Amino acid sequence: TILNHDIQLNSDQRSQSGAGPDFDLEIQGVSKRFGSLYAVNNSSLAIHKGEIISFLGPSGCGKSTLLNMIAGFIQPDAGDIRLAGRSIVDLPPNKRETGMVFQHYALFPHMTVKANIAYGLEARGQPAALIKERVSTMLSLLKLDSFGDRYPAELSGGQRQRVAVARALAPRPKVLLLDEALSALDKNLREEMQIELSLLLRQLQITTIMVTHDQAEAFAVSDRIAIMEQGHIVQVGTPEDVYRNPASSFVLRFLGSAN
Ligand code: ADP
Ligand code: MG
Repeated sequence: TILNHDIQLNSDQRSQSGAGPDFDLEIQGVSKRFGSLYAVNNSSLAIHKGEIISFLGPSGCGKSTLLNMIAGFIQPDAGDIRLAGRSIVDLPPNKRETGMVFQHYALFPHMTVKANIAYGLEARGQPAALIKERVSTMLSLLKLDSFGDRYPAELSGGQRQRVAVARALAPRPKVLLLDEALSALDKNLREEMQIELSLLLRQLQITTIMVTHDQAEAFAVSDRIAIMEQGHIVQVGTPEDVYRNPASSFVLRFLGSAN
């Protein structure tokens, strides 16, 4: 099927690019200051290929800033970010092979679902035949087959978020970055999307960083969780590790606060 073929290609591309056998994405001593405030302070983390990792922490702890530095929308003051063994900090966002999904979809309202999904491919100058095939694969992967010709205003919140994911995945990024991507959805839909999305990401074997302030979400979908406090990554571990052995009173209080 198209789907299997697509996934096959994806894993082939990966094995060819695999300079760093152990880690796909490496964040090395990255900092970002706004005035006198360190939004992100000397943070390091190495993420495996295909791993789903969550940045979890209270509002203002630096999650989005760190994600935006990986995507290339914010330039770090210090540190390096490497993807498949290669530094990407000097590359513009569209050359980084990262895809990003925001809380509020950021779909183009005047464009159909198909055109939204095709956007990143067109911006990269891909041939029309490839774009058409890729859009149709994405529609089917995200269960949007019958919505391709609709406009964002004609979709539900959950459908819009699927389009945002399809659009981010269409150029076949190596890394998917989700910034509170499901937070705007109501609880039932959010839980349904958590399951669906994590199944899809595991099927595609795509390295994913998910930013959330929602512990249940982080615990439900992640291989590992990185807990942030005031610009620092203060603990990294499997959901079970973090839950059983909180590294500090901050982590303990933070995990306790929403239980
Ligand atoms: P989170 O996503 O964890 O809620 P952010 O990364 O958005 O946190 O913000 C981290 C800190 O940096 C906060 O104190 C926030 O107010 C500050 N900050 C973020 N972006 C800017 C900016 N563009 N200008 C000034 N301060 C900012
Ligand atoms: Mg944020």
